[in-house]
Amino acid sequence: MLDSLETIVSFAKRRGFIFQSSEIYGGLSSCYDYGPLGVELKNNVKKMWWKAMVQNRNDVVGLDASILMAPKVWEASGHLEGFTDPLVDCKQCKKRWRADHLLEAKGIKPTFQPGDWGKHNMKCPDCGGDLTEVRKFNLMFKTQMGAVEDEAIDIYLRPETCQGIYTNFLNVQQSMRKKVPFGIAQIGKAFRNEITPGHFTFRTREFEQMEQQYFCHPDEKKKIFDMWQEVRMQWYRDLGIKKENLQFREHEKTELAHYASRALDIEYNYPAMGFKELAGVHDRGNWDLTRHSEFSGEDLSYFDNQKNEKFIPHIIETSDGADRATLAFLIDAYDEVETRSGDEDGKHEKEVVLRLHKSLAPIKIAILPLSKKEPLQKLSEEIQTKLRQDWMTMYDETGSIGKRYRRQDEIGTPYCLTVDFDSLEDKKVTVRDRDTMVQERVGIEELEKYFGDKLR
Ligand code: ATP
Repeated sequence: MLDSLETIVSFAKRRGFIFQSSEIYGGLSSCYDYGPLGVELKNNVKKMWWKAMVQNRNDVVGLDASILMAPKVWEASGHLEGFTDPLVDCKQCKKRWRADHLLEAKGIKPTFQPGDWGKHNMKCPDCGGDLTEVRKFNLMFKTQMGAVEDEAIDIYLRPETCQGIYTNFLNVQQSMRKKVPFGIAQIGKAFRNEITPGHFTFRTREFEQMEQQYFCHPDEKKKIFDMWQEVRMQWYRDLGIKKENLQFREHEKTELAHYASRALDIEYNYPAMGFKELAGVHDRGNWDLTRHSEFSGEDLSYFDNQKNEKFIPHIIETSDGADRATLAFLIDAYDEVETRSGDEDGKHEKEVVLRLHKSLAPIKIAILPLSKKEPLQKLSEEIQTKLRQDWMTMYDETGSIGKRYRRQDEIGTPYCLTVDFDSLEDKKVTVRDRDTMVQERVGIEELEKYFGDKLR
């Protein structure tokens, strides 16, 4: 287990996974760009989520709602009033802090009834200076819509993706002839003006959520909540996260968001931070559809023909962060091993093997001609042209074969395919497995079937 995030931060940059945003201008704090391998990894995370949540189920359908929504949505959702963090400033060094984080660090349960804060006599952790009273700080990014400033209306970048699902509840239910219980899933960007972002991509101001809202009758809620908590936990395990690095944490009543009647986190054991939220399962009651019915004037209730019953569906939400998940997969897969690559100039004392699940690996097959001689290059290119129809491949002809294996191990490529002079005669290539390092000769004609089976 890594003891700091620094190793991953520099590895992610060095190997083209994640870069600081606007780096040549000194960087924009807490914003990150996914590089060529990072975008493949994160796309694969999202693809696997979609596959598990939509493609493989009859009871969930997808949606892609717009980021900008009518301002009233945020009144109805309670975000204009309630989506705030408690904030204090140091009177001396002017640094800004989350009051709840300061209390938690001292083992005090944060409560903010009038008079609560003053009792604790908290000081600035940096300089020991006095702190201001607690103020509420709204986390939504505000912007304006419209070409003429005077006539423009204030709108917000969505702080969570799910509101687009609630406002489309009837559209989806009616157009897809769905019966309750059913779910709507969506992947998309969300924005929060976090006061204390940090820990790399764990907490950023722009991030991506993978959310699913399951509409149900209140009598079925408990069973459905249990089902989703298992489904979401199992997804992380199936994709290779070590069991001991995952745990559930039930929220106490005092921690619950304004809309939630029950919340459970799936936590990951992040280096240096310990167990922190990776995803959540929430019982949102019928708060959302009730509020949107009130504020929009549209009746968002559901009529159950069989039971002859009309009700406002309750919602069990599963909410995963694509960036936090990508980070967890990277950290969990990162392995430093004693040297294991072949020839002399490829040798190092320590080597990195990124043991990503095959379905998440950015590159599935590396194509490595043993020499730069024309007939090997030509054959390698022909093989790549065929394989890239189905999989992300990478062509690499520079350096010794040991070095090239190591490069691929470091970025998690499950298979390396070497084209050598024998290949010209026997029409076979050598395929090496990242984890077992077992090598086998496979006929060129059989490669598509071979990888089809291995990478399914
Ligand atoms: P936290 O307590 O860590 O601030 P939260 O409880 O506010 O998280 P939710 O509102 O439940 O988070 O959001 C669902 C998921 O979205 C989280 O589990 C996380 O994976 C992701 N997420 C939330 N805020 C951020 C952020 N600032 N940066 C990256 N991912 C985030």
